[in-house]
Amino acid sequence: MQNPWDTAMRQYEAALAHAGLSPYLEAKLRHPDRIVEMSLPVRMDDGRVEVFTGFRVQHDNTRGPYKGGIRYHSHVDMNEVKALAFWMTMKCSLVDVPFGGGKGGIVVDPKLLSSGELERLTREFTRKLYPIIGPERDVPAPDVYTNGVIMGWMRDEYGKKFRTQSSKIRKEEVPESWLDAVVTGKSLGAGGSEGRAEATGLGGSIVLDEILSRRGVKRSAMTVAIQGFGNVGSWLARSLIAAGYRVVALSDSKGGIYVKDGIDDLEALERCKKERGSVSEYDGGTRVSVEEVLSLQADILAPAALENAITEANVNDIKAPIVLEMANGPTTTGADGALKERGVIVIPDILANAGGVAVSYFEWQQNMQAVHWQRDEVLRELDRKMRAAARDVAEEVSRSGLSMREAAYTLALRRIAACDTI
Ligand code: NAD
Repeated sequence: MQNPWDTAMRQYEAALAHAGLSPYLEAKLRHPDRIVEMSLPVRMDDGRVEVFTGFRVQHDNTRGPYKGGIRYHSHVDMNEVKALAFWMTMKCSLVDVPFGGGKGGIVVDPKLLSSGELERLTREFTRKLYPIIGPERDVPAPDVYTNGVIMGWMRDEYGKKFRTQSSKIRKEEVPESWLDAVVTGKSLGAGGSEGRAEATGLGGSIVLDEILSRRGVKRSAMTVAIQGFGNVGSWLARSLIAAGYRVVALSDSKGGIYVKDGIDDLEALERCKKERGSVSEYDGGTRVSVEEVLSLQADILAPAALENAITEANVNDIKAPIVLEMANGPTTTGADGALKERGVIVIPDILANAGGVAVSYFEWQQNMQAVHWQRDEVLRELDRKMRAAARDVAEEVSRSGLSMREAAYTLALRRIAACDTI
């Protein structure tokens, strides 16, 4: 399987010829600014102490504080976290929010931990991260198998540590809302923003709408297969169904479900996943495997789970003429080349899934200014940002003849270069 950092670097290299970076910036972006590996001892419920490994990679902060999610997964490794941090730098620049890129993770299967163990692990991680994160330094967010509750624990632990450290060292007084800005993706009651939960999925549907309408494609009744039924996959499904698309297939890590006429009761599917462990147990459709979901007959395929979903091994089975990359790095370099050759439209991850970081930016802004935006205001701004980024990419494609991915990288790199003062 392709190492995600190699994928990221090959995407970077493909755009370099068009971006006009200085030799300094070109070299700088090949290397994260900082890589931190942490040992995280945790007292388990049975009295044992287990030591987990955590990472934070801060890739680049030319445009603003490092920004990026925290992943809890047994396959987390340094190359993955580095790649995810690099993609955040590109994404924040492309969608024009004043952040750089970072990412973090813990090597753990969170499904095997009790809630208390998960909380102690998160608090230990936050204490270790404390010297390098902060509202104006590095702002984490949720990613795979982390959520608003985990962000709430991080916010709380950071606040506690800040209060003790600041009274000892800085005697600094800051409002609680400023401390809220240390993480985004918090739940509403803990300083979160309206619209953050659905932001990534909804953002993907806005980008798709903008790209298809520019190409004069009739969107309603198009069929969609979605790999992944977590935060991103489920909200993408909801947003697309509301916009008139037919979501014919969905999957999670255990299997998938196919419904020819389109899935319309997502609540029932969610209940089924909760009660029976997987969407594939749903009674209203045909059970399919995780792999089959990728190769079903559909107009749009949206990988919304993990990296390396579309590879050289399965790319020839993919029938959808449009791929909407909702996961980060779902397509290997070889598979990307094969899709391009076949004329498949690939809407790249740094554009398609940037809605999450756009609303994370709105959340951060609200916390920094101690204000609360209404839901319609957040959604209006999300729509504006996503359409602007999609339009910029589409115009760059028409101007240059580049693929959408190359055009997105080119724009992102030029915007970083415009802020580079060295
Ligand atoms: P999540 O933890 O909420 O959900 C992950 C989903 O993927 C689950 O449904 C899980 O069952 C499924 N999954 C895991 N392995 C799978 C496999 N092999 N086959 C099929 N499904 C599998 O995570 P999420 O937040 O929805 O993130 C999904 C992707 O979107 C990741 O690549 C993440 O980096 C990216 N992303 C997330 C956000 C965000 O705001 N959460 C923003 C941008 C990008």
